[in-house]
Amino acid sequence: MRVLVVGAGVVGLTTAVCLAETGYDVHVLARDLPLETTSSVAAALWYPYLADPPERIFGWAERSLQVFSHIAHQSPEAGVRLVRGTELLKRHCADPYWAAAVRSFTRVDNPPAPYADGWSFEAPIIEMPVYLGWLRDRLEAAGGTVIRMALPALPGAAELVINCAGLGARHLASDRSVVPVRGQVLHLAQVGLNRWSLDAEGPTYVVPRRRDIVVGGTDVEADWSTRPEPSVATDILRRATSLVPELVDARVLGHRVGLRPVRPSVRLESEQLSQGGRAIHCYGHGGAGVTLSWGCAAEVLSLAASR
Ligand SMILES: Cc1cc2nc3c(=O)[nH]c(=O)nc-3n(C[C@H](O)[C@H](O)[C@H](O)COP(=O)(O)OP(=O)(O)OC[C@H]3O[C@@H](n4cnc5c(N)ncnc54)[C@H](O)[C@@H]3O)c2cc1C
Repeated sequence: MRVLVVGAGVVGLTTAVCLAETGYDVHVLARDLPLETTSSVAAALWYPYLADPPERIFGWAERSLQVFSHIAHQSPEAGVRLVRGTELLKRHCADPYWAAAVRSFTRVDNPPAPYADGWSFEAPIIEMPVYLGWLRDRLEAAGGTVIRMALPALPGAAELVINCAGLGARHLASDRSVVPVRGQVLHLAQVGLNRWSLDAEGPTYVVPRRRDIVVGGTDVEADWSTRPEPSVATDILRRATSLVPELVDARVLGHRVGLRPVRPSVRLESEQLSQGGRAIHCYGHGGAGVTLSWGCAAEVLSLAASR
């Protein structure tokens, strides 16, 4: 069966790969190509952040963690590595709801001042510019295509359309509950860092990649600006250096901004369109589109198979 996937971010490409490898004739239509999407800006650490509801997020995140771990072991060219790191907290907290999905999860015994608590675990770090290219190659190897096309509406006459348009669903699905949550990051030169660090306040995160380090961040709701702000970058760098002092002399390589597609809950459901076709909506993954990508793609696949 022919399937049109709208969107070439991590959600659209992962879904397209799953469908194409199952035998569907898949074509991705996207206004922005993979390296121009919000997905290309992601840090990207496996971490369920700014996405709801927890009871659905858990399964999607758990499944994605399994697949990313497999990719890290089997496909070194994909840009996925398993890296241990620590989240520090200013007050004592119960284990997060997703901890049960993470076998390597441990509590931090003596957190450094000013922190009172923390946890540590091994998480996939996904180097998005490399990984999105790898996903696209995998899709094309399975017979799929990626075509640049800005759509004025969902192609409702197609037999099956998968709507992975992220923020674009505000228009394509007339869904104003998807809002941008602006995130700004800096890229620093590597200084030999091999652990990730996170402080939920800020939020502040330091994610080492092979050749550089992504540091963030911000989460400003309803801010549509994609221009990096110098004063925000200075503040991010101050917070990141206080969390990871080794960054003090790291050279700044660049700045990026992305708009997270946040929704009160991720929309993943099937809808009959008035023109006769069927849509499966899969958008609104907030700050966790990478973290949820394989779990959501598996659910789209089972919805596609059920009529
Ligand atoms: C600074 C920052 C750090 C982040 N860090 C992490 C992290 O560590 N871990 C994590 O899991 N997540 C992270 N995220 C969140 C993650 O980036 C998003 O959840 C994810 O990118 C959403 O993917 P998506 O494919 O749904 O949307 P997008 O990547 O935005 O892709 C949407 C696609 O739909 C297309 N589209 C939209 N409208 C139309 C139209 N009318 N016609 C045709 N095509 C259309 C676009 O062109 C694009 O191709 C981060 C985000 C930011 C900004």
